[in-house]
Amino acid sequence: MAKFAKVIIDQDAKALDKVFEYIVPQEMSIEVGMRVYVPFGKRVLQGFVVGLSDSCDYDESKLKAIISMIEDFSAIKKEMLELMKFMAKKNHLKLASILRLFIPAEMREGKVKELFETIYLLNEENVEKLQKNAKKQQEIVEYLKIHNSRASSNEISQYGYGAIKALCDKGILQKEKREIKRTPFVLSIDAKKVKLNYGQENAIKTIKEDKTYLLHGVTGSGKTEVYMHLIERALSEGKNAIMLVPEISLTPQIMSNFKARFGNNVALLHSGLSAGERFDEWKRIFSGQARIAIGARSAIFAPIENLGMIIIDEEHEQSYISESNPRFDTHDIAEFRARFNHCPLVLGSATPSIESYEKAKQGIYQLIELATRANGKELPKIQIIDMMNEIRTGNSGIFSNQLLADLANVINNKKQAMIFINRRGYSSFMRCRDCGYIAKCMDCDVSLVYHREDNRLKCHYCGKQYKVLTKCPKCGSENIKNGAVGTEQVVAKLKEYFPDVKILRMDNDTTSTKNAHQKILSEFKNTLPCILVGTQMIAKGHDFENVVLVGIVDADQSLYHADYRSTERTFQLITQVSGRAGRSENEGKVVLQTYSPRHYVYKFASNYDFKGFFRKEENIRQTAQFPPFTRILRVLFVDHDENYVRELLKICYTELEGLKEKYGDDIIYLDAMKSPIKRIQDKYRYQIMMRFKLAKADMIEEDVFNIVDKNAKTSVFFEVNPQNLS
Ligand code: ADP
Ligand code: ZN
Ligand code: ZN
Repeated sequence: MAKFAKVIIDQDAKALDKVFEYIVPQEMSIEVGMRVYVPFGKRVLQGFVVGLSDSCDYDESKLKAIISMIEDFSAIKKEMLELMKFMAKKNHLKLASILRLFIPAEMREGKVKELFETIYLLNEENVEKLQKNAKKQQEIVEYLKIHNSRASSNEISQYGYGAIKALCDKGILQKEKREIKRTPFVLSIDAKKVKLNYGQENAIKTIKEDKTYLLHGVTGSGKTEVYMHLIERALSEGKNAIMLVPEISLTPQIMSNFKARFGNNVALLHSGLSAGERFDEWKRIFSGQARIAIGARSAIFAPIENLGMIIIDEEHEQSYISESNPRFDTHDIAEFRARFNHCPLVLGSATPSIESYEKAKQGIYQLIELATRANGKELPKIQIIDMMNEIRTGNSGIFSNQLLADLANVINNKKQAMIFINRRGYSSFMRCRDCGYIAKCMDCDVSLVYHREDNRLKCHYCGKQYKVLTKCPKCGSENIKNGAVGTEQVVAKLKEYFPDVKILRMDNDTTSTKNAHQKILSEFKNTLPCILVGTQMIAKGHDFENVVLVGIVDADQSLYHADYRSTERTFQLITQVSGRAGRSENEGKVVLQTYSPRHYVYKFASNYDFKGFFRKEENIRQTAQFPPFTRILRVLFVDHDENYVRELLKICYTELEGLKEKYGDDIIYLDAMKSPIKRIQDKYRYQIMMRFKLAKADMIEEDVFNIVDKNAKTSVFFEVNPQNLS
């Protein structure tokens, strides 16, 4: 038995971010990875055992002993301890904050436990002790006799607790505790069997080595079928698998398909689960009962051993990058786990990120292509509508004449349409036409969004709600202007044009309750004709056979962000949304409305020319020195005290400027400024932006970490190639 344990204290504090030593009491069988209670100063804290040894580095007489074990198993497996070291170095994170990612939050907080029920078993030998006049007791015995001699307490509670107890006392019934697994609801369907086409066969045959594959397959090319075969093969080799899908495309369809194919081998991990469901699914994975973890980003931390396949579907999705603390990129974690387990990692997408495609081009990833739809259908035609031209010809509404005509057509033919608008609420802001006043959140430096449904102004950053403006609070004018169109308004206007048609809306506001997602989608599936209006929630994964028209109301919306990825993102969105149309016998069409019809992104997107787009974008990034050819680092300082962050920013910036001498033009850019949104939830936000050449990027980054860490006593966030610059 080891005498000493190395423990990481489960506290998110810089001063505690190291390994502490404790004595292991003789009677305690501690293993690496267990969670324990330890004395710390005057307090008792939770900790993770990350090592055991027979000797200690500190003065033994000063060491304290572990108090007790929290669970009697190692919640953190060996691989995850290695992953912790990797993430600490790569992402510059505190050890405890990494370990927290590896177990369900509710388990750490002691808020969930296994759920048990009592089962009663009939003991035939003692049935003779049954009293003749005990009517209730006889009924219970009868009930058990016709139910395989066992019943849950629920089933027999109607006979009264007194009778049950009497039977137990006589030994006629025996009590047993049984764990009830809480499992997420999944619509059950029959497993679909399809004959693989050549491209799919080829992909499956190719993907077998210990390396990373980029599966570039057009929408509807049957990537899901490829994933299922790869997972099936891994299982048949006695190995296990993880498949990640973006939160928003964790559609009932995907889940049902996998459940149908793999049954109870599948465990689901996503944010829609209750704490109990998440805990039980996690434990099913942990214990090896479930061999496939399917879920959003956090499922990459699933405690699965002996991995034979890791898949990231829609690999270009932003949601794979954790932007809040702790910050990390799921790709890095998946890469680590694949290499640790010597298994393939598959990145799938119809629109790979420029970064991943560049890696494929350089041979770091192996590229595999699925160039046609699995059912042999053409991709839907994309028609570009110049909205300036609509205005010139007298149409100043939200919808072009073409879109209205096509919608009317869809309705006449009893088919379905999807209308995509990536903005929720009714309009993006309220502004006084006379003095220019804009309604803003008190705690955040952003304008409020008007929601007509509950007649409120809402802050989309902190959730605060405000009364609607009828009069300008500054000048009293009643001349109030609404900003850009959101989903609510699109639905309202569509109802004016098509009063008898069912129109559904899917966005964050209509899907906040449990299973709401599922309800909207199944109503859509069963209604003809029908129009579904939604944000990017409707862009991914759905496979509805009656959708023949997709309308993109405001394609430019994602185009003019001050962000080097905005064009790429626009291309991805158009391709994904368009992919929802014409997936079966019915031919599909896309109407794309824009005020900049000549922007190159529309030319490439409307021809589904990913490679052309990639070449153009690659060229622009290379010339302008942006990622993936350079690295961007944002250091974000956040605090309630504005003077303090400003001071800190100044100190760090001055010291960082010194790096310019050391690294010369390997540092392309360095500047300090307010963040674009300078206050969120009443915390001030300042930042240092840096851009480096790749050759020395790791070294420079290390120096930046050290300089900032030395000075900062507040919340500092390091973001590499940030997705969102708010
Ligand atoms: P992707 O994920 O690439 O967009 P899906 O996996 O959703 O595409 O497949 C699109 C449709 O094609 C699904 O309905 C699927 O069942 C079907 N499909 C997949 N492979 C085949 C095949 N080999 N033959 C016929 N249909 C297929
Ligand atoms: Zn005003
Ligand atoms: Zn706010």
